[in-house]
This record gives sequence, structure tokens and C-alpha cells, in this order.
Amino acid sequence: MSPSKSQADCIFCKIISGEIPSQIVYQDEDIVVFPDINPATPVHLLIITRKHIPSLAHMAEADTPLVGKMVKVANKLAREQGLSEKGYRLTINSGAEAGQVVPHLHMHFMGGRDLRWVH
Ligand code: AMP
Ligand code: ZN
Repeated sequence: MSPSKSQADCIFCKIISGEIPSQIVYQDEDIVVFPDINPATPVHLLIITRKHIPSLAHMAEADTPLVGKMVKVANKLAREQGLSEKGYRLTINSGAEAGQVVPHLHMHFMGGRDLRWVH
């Protein structure tokens, strides 16, 4: 199946394919992790699905286990970064009003400083 135009233009699909270079810190058959190019916290990684899913709102039922897998990878990274006890934050922005700018499902993994909860 040929990719849709939006998928062909997708920054994160290009990182997965290697067309855009990034420092991949973890990958498996479903998930790829790399540093956010504009980190908001000392540790700021992006946990993305290999599958191009534009947002949470575009998930098919069969995609549900992928989100659990993203959390599992996040917890493993937290252990490796020494953040399991200190704390870390996982965020998925879905849609324009949530501030999503890259339309490829991704989870922000943030930590390394005291994070305020702002609404
Ligand atoms: P969101 O606002 O949830 O869509 O987050 C998109 C994130 O992707 C932002 O935090 C950007 O800094 C990050 N980003 C955009 N382009 C790249 C890139 N080439 N490599 C790494 N992170 C990126
Ligand atoms: Zn994509």
C-alpha cells in the first residue's frame, strides 16, 4: 500500500526510515525512541509508533496495545535514567487545541527536574 501524502511528508516517518538523522535511543518492532530536538526538560524523549497513526483520535481498535507498549518502554527508560523513583511525565498531545504539531502518534517522556503541573 503506498503511503498517503501526509505520511510521505511525515517528519517522524522520515526519522524511522533514516532519511532524517536522529539519535535513536531505543527501537523494537513497534516503537522507536529519540531525543526531542527542542527539549523542554533535561530528559525529553519522544516515544513513537513505527506505524503512522496521525493522532490518538485516529487509532484503530487493533492499535490499542501499542499505547501500552509505549508506556512499557517509558518505564524501562525511566529505570535506565534513574527516574523511576524521582518521577517523570508522559504526555500525548492529540489535536490542535492540545498543541499537537507533528501528526504522527508520539508520547513525550519528560523528567530530570521538578515539573510543575500547569493547566
Ligand atoms: P507535539 O507538539 O506533541 O506534536 O510535539 C512534537 C515534538 O516534536 C516537539 O516537542 C518538537 O520539538 C519535536 N520535534 C520536531 N521535529 C523533530 C525532529 N526532527 N527531531 C526530534 N524532535 C522533533
Ligand atoms: Zn509518520
